[in-house]
Amino acid sequence: MKAVEQHGGFSSTACLTYGTGVPLLLLDLDNTLLDRAGAFVVWATDFLNEIGASLDELDWILDVDADGLTNRWDVAEALKDRYRLRTPSIDLVESLHDGMVENVRLDPLVACALRIAADAGWIPVVVSNGATRQQEAKIRHTGLDRYLADWVISEEAGVSKPNPRIFAIAAERARMRLNGAWMVGDSPEADIGGASALGLPSVWLHRGRRWTESRFAPTRTADGPIAALAEVFDEASGGQWPVNGRGYRGPERRPVASPYRRQVGGLR
Ligand SMILES: [Mg+2]
Repeated sequence: MKAVEQHGGFSSTACLTYGTGVPLLLLDLDNTLLDRAGAFVVWATDFLNEIGASLDELDWILDVDADGLTNRWDVAEALKDRYRLRTPSIDLVESLHDGMVENVRLDPLVACALRIAADAGWIPVVVSNGATRQQEAKIRHTGLDRYLADWVISEEAGVSKPNPRIFAIAAERARMRLNGAWMVGDSPEADIGGASALGLPSVWLHRGRRWTESRFAPTRTADGPIAALAEVFDEASGGQWPVNGRGYRGPERRPVASPYRRQVGGLR
């Protein structure tokens, strides 16, 4: 089979040889792998300082943004209305875009955890709701692309979480089956609800919130991405992870290096 270079430093070529023993690791992007909320606070603070408004307004802006769920153009309009700005909406939308890309950082420890996951044979694929341009810019700008096998953004996929189709697309891109996959994310509805609808185990990043959904629940809960990945490894290895610091030793691990693992080894 001809090699097909995917988005990042990984190639999915080798995935064609995978069976069900290699697990797919589906990962949310915003406020899971990347601290999108922190980046937005930096942007909003700069914005308020620029227009000479009080930082007490921060809570209002955070409410309008709704963790990025509000359409960027609607955010721009709301800002213009509240602060009586004559700034063209497109300038505010561009400022929001650039601010997110510039301010978001990949925690080196998260990168390290993803490397450990890949070394243990997991195939990490991001599944994110959002605008393709914005999400891809964040993935590439932070260098996260080097730690992912691939990613699926709802805008380009034409379907959003929790619709099962977007998770199926992620599996297809990695040339893998959804069976055996784990989902890690901070959204009860989009991430955990999506995984639940497919019967997939999941880890929910609580971010200080309590779980209130009664229709479904995450398999595990964690307070950050590193802890979440540790939960996945621990659960998947039957509680045997880590083993003397030597990493994952679960029953499904394939000890023989696959072509994909060579790709992982080539990561910078
Ligand atoms: Mg999220």
